Amino acid sequence: MVEAGESEMTECAQMFIAGEWCDGGAGTAEVLNPSNGQPIGAVAISDCADLDRALASADGAFSGWSRTSAYERSAILRKAGDLLRARAEEIGRLMTIEQGKPYEEAKGEVMGSADHIDWAAEEGRRIYGRVIPARAPNVSQIAYKVPLGVVAGFSPWNFPVSQAVRKIAGALGAGCSIVIKCPEETPYSCAELVRCFADAGVPAGVLNLVYGVPSEISEHLIPAAPVRMVSFTGSIPVGKHLGELAARHVKRCTLELGGHSPFIVAEDADVDAALALAVGLKFRNAGQVCASPSRFMVHERHYDRFVDGFVKGAEALKVGDGFTKGVQMGPLANIRRLEAMEAFVQDATDRGATLRFGGRRIGNEGYFFEPTVLTDVPEDARLMVEEPFGPLAPIAPFSSLDQAIEKANQLPFALAAFAFGSSQHTVSQLSEGLEAGMVSINHFGIASPETPFGGMKESGYGSEGGVEGMEAFITTKFVSAASLAA
Ligand code: NAD
Repeated sequence: MVEAGESEMTECAQMFIAGEWCDGGAGTAEVLNPSNGQPIGAVAISDCADLDRALASADGAFSGWSRTSAYERSAILRKAGDLLRARAEEIGRLMTIEQGKPYEEAKGEVMGSADHIDWAAEEGRRIYGRVIPARAPNVSQIAYKVPLGVVAGFSPWNFPVSQAVRKIAGALGAGCSIVIKCPEETPYSCAELVRCFADAGVPAGVLNLVYGVPSEISEHLIPAAPVRMVSFTGSIPVGKHLGELAARHVKRCTLELGGHSPFIVAEDADVDAALALAVGLKFRNAGQVCASPSRFMVHERHYDRFVDGFVKGAEALKVGDGFTKGVQMGPLANIRRLEAMEAFVQDATDRGATLRFGGRRIGNEGYFFEPTVLTDVPEDARLMVEEPFGPLAPIAPFSSLDQAIEKANQLPFALAAFAFGSSQHTVSQLSEGLEAGMVSINHFGIASPETPFGGMKESGYGSEGGVEGMEAFITTKFVSAASLAA
């Protein structure tokens, strides 16, 4: 078993198909520790035959699972949640080794994921249909809510457990079966998540885990006849591609894509409270969070104080290996993110931005990047129009709140928006004016299991979490039955 700080995992992370752990027909791929760039193990890579087995097992298991009472499904899921809590330390350790985030954060993610399972377990028992009064006597009209069928899920590496769990628990709670492709970068913690469901008694075939070449898997799974729903979390370009593929085959689709969240500090804001949240939120998970604030707009009255406070906060952050005590920010997840950060900063400074803090790779081992603060970033810099997905914080002043809101809304992405302001008028202006799937004012209030998580515009459609998250996995079946006289 992997110990904290140990960087070698001898066993290959296997796939789980038809209730059995298995190797992949296409061999293995290396898994790296982002804290030192060294190999830590391997992940099984599927071939078409593996994917077909996964599809067949999910298809075969659907009928039994969808007919299992919601009460019984709920009990199994609750047990999976309990197992996940009991194994949080071990799974958190795996996550820190393969993804890099601080160990306490990783463990917290696992614990929070158990709450998602509990929510889906309970909410699955509250999927109600309705009786519709008929126009004729002796006719019953019932709209049933039924599970869609086999789900093809694609989850990302930034939150290996909590992103996968939303898809798995939602699908299973609603009575669907699922084939999920978890991230090849972080397969070990994902596999342990799946093991919790298997150990809790989820029948063979209901939950299948695969890894491989992402494009090959999506091209194979999405058109496949048994698949009735696609759930993807990841980048906007990939989401657009998968959305097209799903549309071509008339498959229901939930797309939870990237964003470029504004963080507005209004003239009447509590600046200290805003600063305390802003720094923590920006650099959590090294900024690799789809809802991470990435455009800070501060009323000119508070601008200098906010920039100074933000720089101090960034300077004070302890960056390092996620197992080192006191570390608040780990490495970026892979070399691609490191190169992307360097390119964003270079482009911004070439265009005249001022680097207030950071801006460089830390050392030459692992994928560490400095928490970075920039001001005077031109509106057309790549950092202002593309999702940075990393620890970069551009800060700009504004004089009119209306104009700040207009600017916040001007990008084609609209996942989350954050704001601080104290008067009722300011809060109304912000909550009504900001265009985003999730708006959080004067605190961090998004992403709990019972609230909808999802975007507007190019940030995607559909929700995960909340009642809406369960609705994604169900469809309506209307039955009109006339009783004939004997
Ligand atoms: P990427 O676009 O190559 O991959 C993003 C995710 O999509 C990965 O998990 C990958 O396995 C998967 N993927 C890629 N191509 C796919 C395909 N054809 N079919 C199915 N899945 C596919 O980018 P990356 O370098 O791994 O990550 C960086 C970008 O991804 C960021 O800019 C960010 O926008 C996005 N991202 C978003 C989230 C999120 O929570 N919304 C999470 C992780 C990454």
